[in-house]
Amino acid sequence: MLRTLIQSLRDGVVTTRYPDAPAEVPERFRGAPEPEVGRPFGALPTASVCPTGAITAGEGAAYTIDLGRCIFCGRCADEPSDGAIRIGREFELSARRREDLLVRIGRDADGRVTELAPEPADTAALGERVAERIHRTLGRSLHLRHLDAGSCNACDWELVALLAPHYDVRRLGIDFVASPRHADGVIVTGSVTRNLEPAVRRTFEAVPEPRVVIAVGACGCSGGIAPASYASAGGVDQILPVDVYVPGCPPRPEAILFGILLAVGRIEAKRRPAPAR
Ligand code: SF4
Repeated sequence: MLRTLIQSLRDGVVTTRYPDAPAEVPERFRGAPEPEVGRPFGALPTASVCPTGAITAGEGAAYTIDLGRCIFCGRCADEPSDGAIRIGREFELSARRREDLLVRIGRDADGRVTELAPEPADTAALGERVAERIHRTLGRSLHLRHLDAGSCNACDWELVALLAPHYDVRRLGIDFVASPRHADGVIVTGSVTRNLEPAVRRTFEAVPEPRVVIAVGACGCSGGIAPASYASAGGVDQILPVDVYVPGCPPRPEAILFGILLAVGRIEAKRRPAPAR
């Protein structure tokens, strides 16, 4: 006990300051594929290199990378090796609309790659006094019910990390609860298996309104490597009305936290009275 106490004093504060301060991601972290602006358009890889069908390559500006399907494997950056795709280090990729996860790549008049990607989110505004914002919206902390709808558990491990001392999401007034009746929303990992589909629906219906749905990981966003089939319904939005998509395979804990912050804004929007007609 004494040894533990001494070690704690030696370690000091281990909790990250994210989102109030930028996150320090490890050197070897691999983010999402990004276009190398200015490279010849012909240096883009063919769609067939992608194991999840995230790349749609057509003529002109029809080249698209769907981050909701992408597992961040990096194959498109490796082939061809001097190609027009690189693996970035961005992790704040969550989006409220599925289409915002589409990275569109264009071709300029000189036949070079141009970036048509969505604008980066305003993380500073999101991180600002998030706990106060949650309390103002809900009058208490934000409670989420985690649902594993058929994941490989990678996303689940990242979710669990949010509760550990390094991320400690409770400092922001966010917590995971066991009962959907005590929750403000559900956070779902995995593509929804046919077996778990009824349970996912029933759990969502047990959450009082207004409720949010956060889909985590490539499988939750689109089905990922387990798209719709006899065994899987595919992405969470095939079953529930998803409010926030968190891409990645798995997404970093900070990436999930970023998605939860987006969801908080969504709750505010739902609570706002409808405009008078
Ligand atoms: S990094 Fe994403 S888009 Fe590129 S090949 Fe892998 S899954 Fe496909």
